[in-house]
Amino acid sequence: MNKPIIRLEDISKSFFGVPVLKNVDFEAHSGEVHALVGGNGAGKSTLMKILTGVYGKDGGRIFLEDGEAVFHNYKDAFLRGIAMIFQEMSSVPTLTVTENIFLNNELLKGKCFLDGKSMRKRAGELLDRLGVDISPDAVVGDLSVGEKQMVEIVKALSSDAKILVMDEPTASLSANEVDKLFEIIENLKRQKIAIIYISHRMNEILAIADKVTVLRDGQVVAELISRDLKVETIIGHMMGNETGTSFEWIPPKRAFSKEAVLKVEGLEVADAVRDVSFELHRGEVIGFAGLMSSGRTEILETLFGIRRPSKGTIRIDGQEVTMRSAGQAVKAGFGLVPEDRRTQGLVLIHSLKKNLVLPILKKMCTGLFLSPKKINETAQQSISELSVKTDSADKIISLLSGGNQQKIVISKWLRSDMKILLLDEPTAGVDIGSKKELIATVRKFTDQGNSAIFVSSELQEMLAVCDRIYVLKRGKIINELRHEEIESEEVLQNEIQK
Ligand code: ADP
Ligand code: MG
Repeated sequence: MNKPIIRLEDISKSFFGVPVLKNVDFEAHSGEVHALVGGNGAGKSTLMKILTGVYGKDGGRIFLEDGEAVFHNYKDAFLRGIAMIFQEMSSVPTLTVTENIFLNNELLKGKCFLDGKSMRKRAGELLDRLGVDISPDAVVGDLSVGEKQMVEIVKALSSDAKILVMDEPTASLSANEVDKLFEIIENLKRQKIAIIYISHRMNEILAIADKVTVLRDGQVVAELISRDLKVETIIGHMMGNETGTSFEWIPPKRAFSKEAVLKVEGLEVADAVRDVSFELHRGEVIGFAGLMSSGRTEILETLFGIRRPSKGTIRIDGQEVTMRSAGQAVKAGFGLVPEDRRTQGLVLIHSLKKNLVLPILKKMCTGLFLSPKKINETAQQSISELSVKTDSADKIISLLSGGNQQKIVISKWLRSDMKILLLDEPTAGVDIGSKKELIATVRKFTDQGNSAIFVSSELQEMLAVCDRIYVLKRGKIINELRHEEIESEEVLQNEIQK
């Protein structure tokens, strides 16, 4: 076996006394994709931030090929050929592609003059090397999510990185963009770069990983070679004793109301939604299935007052309503769990507790005053009901893992007087255990006489919870299927691809 290009030995790390990494060993080889998997909060991002000098470690050692290395910050690691594409993208939207690539790592002419010409030229070369068709002069804010990520990759490679860490790089990419990313990864492998790849998507792991390391609760529980590897094996290690990896149908506990609680007719939204009509009953979960940009998100956003329809009617309990703002939608009884919880669903700098009670401050008062006791009780209830993994209700929300953040978004709505919950890809970036809990929460909510609309690209999940599914294509409903009519995931897949 050849020597690893990087080796982490016996790494440990605690945050505020809580251990999150315990004696972790990890290594990566040139020209290989090494996947790092594990449930939300397992410690993947923390381990990689230690490897790249972003966090200090409490114990353990890091070795590069030529001996032990000590990194005090990201730049130390970067200059030794280690780069990371962070979960939180860090490009500056108002700057150009070239400016972003060389931000904090500018090329100089002489001692202190920025060498714009060389930077632009070098940016062009790097983009070419990856086969990416983006102009070095484009303003990053104008690019698609996928393109922004390509720029991040180019930035990471700008110092001739030998090790590239990607933390959930596909979380917000479209299927085409994922294909493009995989091409780039193959390309990087040929250039002998070692790639460490974090993802929750098992099909991606099977497609590109050469090796898989599984972390659970801060410990390495398995190191697998990806030849002949099965999804069940990986998930088995991730979950430990908790068995069961597939999503089972959770049937409704009560009959749906005969009258529709929500009735939408002839809805049109700019170029995104065309003549869409559907209804939703009390106690029911309906789903919108379709490819990227089939209009699913736009329908939900219109119901939530974020977009204006150009035509059509929306009725709640038979009464026509017009939603001009999210505030009005909330008054009408809607709650939205948005696709991008990081920018829309949460106030990231606030504590978990504060995020939970924001929409229900009135209920948190005794007399005219906010009651800390009520707030604490409510927060504790939510934490235990949805088994949120946190050491305290005062923890800043951005420090929770993705799945746990998402539970807070949902819990926040469940505590308000909302009757119709709109969920847009609620399980993106969430581990399997938490996914199951989230889905069960939706059913529990509708079993109390409420209703939900569920949008997900993961068909298994839709089949686990939707009583009826509308299939969308280019903004139009092309089919409607009751749960009983869908024999398997493949049937639904075929409908979508029609
Ligand atoms: P993963 O990436 O596997 O989902 P993380 O490495 O992000 O997990 O988190 C591991 C644990 O460490 C979680 O419980 C998380 O809340 C905690 N954590 C991560 N970063 C910080 C931080 N800067 N301060 C306090 N706790 C943190
Ligand atoms: Mg993470």
